[in-house]
Amino acid sequence: MMDYQLTETQQEIAALSRRVAEEKIKPVREHYDQTEEFPWPVVEEIRKADLFGVYLPEAYGGLGGGTFELVLVVEELSRACGGIALSVATGGLCTIPILLFGNEAQRKKWLPPVAAGKRLGAFTITEPGAGSDATATKCTATREGDYYVLNGVKNFCSTGEAAEIYTLFASTNPGRGARGLSAFVVEKGTPGFSFGKKEQKMGIRASSTYELVFKNCKIPKENLLYKEGYGLFIAQNTFDCSRPGVAAQALGIATGALDETMAYVRVRKQFGQTIASFQAIQHMMADCATAIESSRALLYATARAIDGALKPAIDAAVSKGTIVFDEMEALDVRRFTKESGMCKVMCSDTAMKVTTDCVQMCGGIGYMRDFPVEKFMRDAKITQIYEGTNQIQRNEIGMMLIKEAASARREAVAA
Ligand SMILES: Cc1cc2nc3c(=O)[nH]c(=O)nc-3n(C[C@H](O)[C@H](O)[C@H](O)COP(=O)(O)OP(=O)(O)OC[C@H]3O[C@@H](n4cnc5c(N)ncnc54)[C@H](O)[C@@H]3O)c2cc1C
Repeated sequence: MMDYQLTETQQEIAALSRRVAEEKIKPVREHYDQTEEFPWPVVEEIRKADLFGVYLPEAYGGLGGGTFELVLVVEELSRACGGIALSVATGGLCTIPILLFGNEAQRKKWLPPVAAGKRLGAFTITEPGAGSDATATKCTATREGDYYVLNGVKNFCSTGEAAEIYTLFASTNPGRGARGLSAFVVEKGTPGFSFGKKEQKMGIRASSTYELVFKNCKIPKENLLYKEGYGLFIAQNTFDCSRPGVAAQALGIATGALDETMAYVRVRKQFGQTIASFQAIQHMMADCATAIESSRALLYATARAIDGALKPAIDAAVSKGTIVFDEMEALDVRRFTKESGMCKVMCSDTAMKVTTDCVQMCGGIGYMRDFPVEKFMRDAKITQIYEGTNQIQRNEIGMMLIKEAASARREAVAA
């Protein structure tokens, strides 16, 4: 790996995550992949290593890092198993909207238990009729006195059932479409909140994926994040900060597959020589390693840019007890949409290509369940689908390019 000039703390976080991945995840990943059980003992090891809250401010029990530190943990854990790493990443998805749009009381209530790994977090926006198009949300939140009453069904919720704190998006004004969406926090155990179907999946089988059912589920009005009508905006800004997490998962999966492949091609012999000595195999290795390193460079640069822009607002809000979003210049908030989409697209396409090529390099054994490479290929696929499919990312990157070209033109005309 290139020297990315990590700080001492970042090097420690990466090394600790790698140790957990090697010692606690690798020996059991096949078991959880086969059984689709939720990996509670491994979650406990991640909790003991204090890796759940590396990206959260110290004031809420975190390690005071940011997106970059979250990326390091998710990448290293995914190098062993992308499904198990997702239990950390969904904590990020759950808490980023609370951190950016929650008030001090909300931050104090919900961030520390997720930072400590005592309660897992999840994020639920998808519905059977609202996938790429979140504006089609049917789940409603109706204000009744001091409560909101939730009704509807959410699906495909990662870490569903295992998580205890959920960030949820529902319509407070169904007539207003996108502008009627609002963001809430809902806790497991709230009457009227139950779990429906558990999905059976191609990959990331160590992660639970559930349907959530809300029937007259009353939550306190204090569980609304920011203001009514800001739901879509909150979701978009969350994704801008969380997509590097998916990219890190993809990158870890690609790296893990290449690690296993390199170990195999150096010992497997055909025609009296190791298969690593064939130029055809060397070119595939070289292309995989090049794609991985260029993906990592874009991902790390994006994570650092996000942290550079967000940290002053986070520090100001934490010290003053204000809302992070209110400390930012509103127009600047979506400034990472293009780059976070780019690193998600690049790392996930890399993961799919690299894992497919790794299976090819390993030949027949690469296709077998008792050799780890086929699992990496199955796990890689989801990274091109969730948190906005790669088609949706390309739409967003395209829109941003058009906006930039239009504003460059306006500036040129004005000058
Ligand atoms: C394993 C798993 C875990 C998940 N975890 C979560 C979670 O924790 N929380 C959560 O809220 N959601 C979760 N999801 C949902 C996930 O984010 C959605 O599946 C994803 O956003 C795509 O939505 P969809 O499945 O409805 O596909 P659709 O929106 O129906 O898309 C189908 C196809 O059409 C394409 N398409 C759609 N619209 C456009 C367009 N405008 N332009 C070009 N192409 C388009 C898509 O790219 C895709 O190829 C998860 C999904 C899976 C499979």
